[in-house]
This record gives sequence, C-alpha cells and structure tokens, in this order.
Amino acid sequence: MTDLIRNTAAETAAAIAAGEVSAVEVAQAHLDRIGAVDEKVHAFLHVDTDGALSAARAVDAKRAAGEELGPLAGVPLALKDVFTTKGVPTTAGSRILEGWVPPYDATLTRRLKDAGVVILGKTNMDEFAMGSSTENSAFGPTGNPWDLSRIPGGSGGGSAAALAAYEAPLAIGTDTGGSIRQPGAVTGTVGVKPTYGTVSRYGLIAFSSSLDQGGPCARTVLDAALLHEAIAGHDPLDSTSIDAPVLPLVAAARQGATGDLTGVRVGVVKEFAGEGYQAGVMQRFNESVEILRGLGATVVEVSCPSFSYALPAYYLIAPSEASSNLARFDAMRYGLRVGDDGTRSAEDVTALTREAGFGPEVKRRIILGTYALSSGYYDAYYGSAQKVRTLITQDFARSFADVDVLVSPTTPTTAFPIGERADDPMAMYLADLCTIPSNLAGNSAMSVPCGLAPEDNLPVGLQIIAPAMADDRLYRVGAAVEAALDNQWGHPLLEEAPAL
Ligand code: GLN
Repeated sequence: MTDLIRNTAAETAAAIAAGEVSAVEVAQAHLDRIGAVDEKVHAFLHVDTDGALSAARAVDAKRAAGEELGPLAGVPLALKDVFTTKGVPTTAGSRILEGWVPPYDATLTRRLKDAGVVILGKTNMDEFAMGSSTENSAFGPTGNPWDLSRIPGGSGGGSAAALAAYEAPLAIGTDTGGSIRQPGAVTGTVGVKPTYGTVSRYGLIAFSSSLDQGGPCARTVLDAALLHEAIAGHDPLDSTSIDAPVLPLVAAARQGATGDLTGVRVGVVKEFAGEGYQAGVMQRFNESVEILRGLGATVVEVSCPSFSYALPAYYLIAPSEASSNLARFDAMRYGLRVGDDGTRSAEDVTALTREAGFGPEVKRRIILGTYALSSGYYDAYYGSAQKVRTLITQDFARSFADVDVLVSPTTPTTAFPIGERADDPMAMYLADLCTIPSNLAGNSAMSVPCGLAPEDNLPVGLQIIAPAMADDRLYRVGAAVEAALDNQWGHPLLEEAPAL
C-alpha cells in the first residue's frame, strides 16, 4: 500500500497500464492517505471520493475493454480550488464563493478528465490566490508536511502540501506572481509556470488576467512534464491562448535525466542575492550552480537591473486587474448573499456581501487597485508599472541573447512559521521577489528541489527560467539537476514521506 502512494505518476500509470494494479486501488490508497493525514495537513478543502472512484472505475473499464490508455490514465491529482469543476464546489479560498457549485468544467479540468486523470479533490489556497503562505484562505491555513507549524507557501499551498504529504502524486497550481514555484520550493516539490497563454485560463477564476497561468506540480521533473503536456495546448475559449503546438516536454525531461548539459549556457541572475537571502538557501543554490557546471553547462553572471522594480510594479498591476475582476462578485450571481431581507436595495446587499465575504488581503488589494486605476493616478501608478513591465521584458530579452536559461534561488528563505509574516504584508510580498519577473514578462520558469538548508533542514528550491515558448529547456535542465542530486544526497526529498 505504501508503494502505491510513494510511486511517481509515471510509475503508477505504467503499473495500471500493465494491469499490475487497478486505478481503483490506486485511488483508494490515496483517499486512505488523505483520510489518515489531512486532518493535520489541511491540504484539501473538498475531497471528491465518489468522483475519484468513478473516474478510476472508468479507467479500469477502458483497460478491460482493451482500449488504449493515455500516459496519465488512472493517476490521482489534487486540483487547486480556483479551477471550476462541474458539480463539485469551487471556492477560490473565499467565503464569498462558499456553497457555489459551478455548472461547467474549466478547460484544464476537462483535459485532465479526458486524460483519465483521477481528480481527488480541491486544494486549499490563499483567497483568490492572493498570498504566499495559504494563511489568507478563508478556511484556515495548510501545514507544511516538513514541519506542520510552518507555511507550505502560497497561494497554492494546498497543492504543494498534498504532494509533499503523499496525498497525491500530481497537483495543479496557478502562478500569478510565484504561487506554483514558491510553494514547490518550500515543500521540496517541483512546480512549473508555463509560458503565459499556453495553458487555458477558461474556467480559472481570475485574479490578474494578464499574469495568471495554470501549471503542473509534482514530486519529479518527469511527472511535471507528463502533466504539463496533458494540460497545455490551444483553447479557442481563452482569448489569450496561443495557437502553437505543445512542446516536447517529456522528451526534454528524459534527455536531461541522462545528465549531459554540454553546450547549455546558464546565466546566474546577479540581482537575486544579498541582503534578505538565507545563508543555507544561497549555499544550496551555489552548489546547484556548480552541479550545472559539472554536467557540462557554461555558467556566466547576468545582470537584470530592472528586476529590482518588479515587486512594486507587480503590486500595482495585479491589484489593478484584481479590482476589476473581483467586481463580478456582486451577491447576485454566485455564492454568498448577505442582508437580502426584502427591505434593502441591490446595491446595499452587494456592499454587505462584499464586506462579509472578502478577507482583509483581498480588500486591501481591491482598494489599492481601484486607487491605482483612478483618474489622476492612472498614469502615475498603473502607467509607470506597465513601463517597468516593458523594461523587465527587455532585461530578459537581453539576457536570453547570451544564455539559454537563467537560474536563481526560487525564494529567499525556507518555509517560515505560520503567523510570522501574517501581519506584515511587505514581508509576505518579499517571498516572491525572484519569481515575479517571469510573470510580468510572460516567460516560463520552474522550481526544482536542490536540497535542504543546513540551518533548518527545510527544502530549498532552484529556479530555472527560460524564454517564452522554450519551456522544454526547463525540463532538460531541471531533470539534469534532479538526477545529479539523487546521486549526491540520496534525495531525501523524494524518498522519505514526511512523518506526520
Ligand atoms: N504571492 C503573490 C501575491 O500574493 C503571488 C500570488 C500568485 O501567484 N497567485 O500576489
């Protein structure tokens, strides 16, 4: 039974296809694991036992009928509660959506179902994906399986914690400013932000539409590649979806796993170091750079001066778009409705519902965004932020003229204690210092585990950044680092289910 939950997605799919184990047995093993540990971890907001078992039965029936199974058929997955699921509650971590049951599937949800992936349930997240710790969820925090008193990152802390706690071998996150990569880093798992426009946003509850991007979370690079290929591809229902073939990501991961990076040019981003970066994080990062060199890559230092302005630019652009996107929660169409006693105007009911239904961080962002977009301030704030966005894109373009990928720590520190930054938004925002530039520019990036920080024995993530539409490079380099670390440190991250 333990093997069923320890196996990688690739191993599980192969075992199901070979008839060594049934999809139902695999699903049940994960549901049992969730039953045993999720009271402590709180990775899930909703476990869909019936849906999972019936999807697993369908895979087993397909196999029995001799039909061909896709590469992830029967593999369980934890889905961030920001993608709509037909008939299954979807809250985006907010009270304002409590009780809402979507009448349709997001394109990503549909693709997972079509691939025979078994969706176990919906994972906890910061409300509307605003946060870096999952403490902003209206439904209580998630614990980091490495140390339950610490945060699992955010906003997709539930998805990352589900992987680290062996509740699911695959998960889905969304990355607007780092919400896939930062949780990946602090839980010792792999997370990828695909190129903007390559994974459909149809049915993804919008936070900041020009930045939001769904992507894969897994315990290994190969598993992330398999999941990435299953969810990517053009979608006419998303107006920003790119009409281009899906890149050969699985092939790139397999190539990388051979450990040869001859000819790959790596740039170390100079600006992502110094004050605020934990010593043990930098130590593991520097060792990873040496590993890359040892595998045949050439390593140079690269300067991206505009990256220092990424955080302030993001905190104008993202709240501006959020203030507009969240206007749809008006008490009339979805979920919560407060004060509708027949005496109040629709406007008053909307105001009372938004007052009761949104948490403090969401309100902070709506106010900030409304202010930044208001007449008289629009050019000074929103307009300037957009110019910074262009400068950041230019920094990337200049760098990628000389190197194939950039690298940095994913996040300046390891997982911090729950509560430590809860009352200090600025300290919280700093967790995304290294991840935000890629959202502003729209390119692709991965976080891959690179060991434990010596001072606290908590996971550290290596960020690999590639140009837009070159996501395959992430998988080649990420798989090479993963393979090399396996040899050097025995990769406790992937072998030991944290004791819970
Ligand atoms: N932590 C960042 C924020 O709060 C990023 C969130 C995300 O990527 N969804 O906006």
